[in-house]
Amino acid sequence: MCAGCPHRGLFYVLKRNKCTVLGDIGCYTLGAVQPLGAIEMTLCMGASIGAVHGFNKVLGKESESKTVAVIGDSTFMHSGMTGLANVAYNQSNSTVIILDNSITGMTGHQQNPTTGYNIKGDPAGKIDLEALCRAMGFNRVRVVDPYDLKQCDEAVKEELAAKEPSVIISRRPCALLKYVKHKAPLSVDTDKCIGCKSCMRIGCPAISIREGKAHIDKTLCVGCGVCSQLCPVGAFGSAEKEGA
Ligand code: SF4
Ligand code: SF4
Repeated sequence: MCAGCPHRGLFYVLKRNKCTVLGDIGCYTLGAVQPLGAIEMTLCMGASIGAVHGFNKVLGKESESKTVAVIGDSTFMHSGMTGLANVAYNQSNSTVIILDNSITGMTGHQQNPTTGYNIKGDPAGKIDLEALCRAMGFNRVRVVDPYDLKQCDEAVKEELAAKEPSVIISRRPCALLKYVKHKAPLSVDTDKCIGCKSCMRIGCPAISIREGKAHIDKTLCVGCGVCSQLCPVGAFGSAEKEGA
């Protein structure tokens, strides 16, 4: 996944919570590969939600407390809505995570019915995901920022523990969208860095290890700050502040 990808933090949290993650088709299917290795299964477009419903109906509490479906906003519009209606209507205690990066990432940034623009870029109807989920019958609908690992961790734990179906919307626009403003790249204080490689666990292409210490490629880093939340010694700082 790209540097600053909004899906990275959420997948890291799912992996850390030992979740069984049923994936779907999109750029975020890359959450299956190492070092994140977060997705167990991906079948076809929209299948993640039907799968979590089936897993939970068959396996009951054992599955309800650890299994989630992940599906992008565009794929959800394409073929995820019917599965979500089924979860509400046929009442499985399922947790569905919509990865809302506000575009269709995998195929080249096409608009979709949640973005407010049609395929030509002209203004169009905009589906409100939260309102749609509530209209289907979900009482538990919450939005998290995938750059905030603590917030994501709390949401995943609480919704998996809940006794009714829920939807988590992980919302942050794709880092490659032209209108997205990036922060200054981060840098690593090599005097502080102990070379533990904790920051490497998220698989950001901007981070590498040089001579036993973490190194950030400032031409790739967009300053999302996800890596810095994993560092046990606070070795990350802004390259801009340090004049690097
Ligand atoms: S802040 Fe860290 S995780 Fe984010 S793009 Fe830069 S190196 Fe990657
Ligand atoms: S997490 Fe911190 S201490 Fe560990 S390698 Fe990365 S920068 Fe260094």
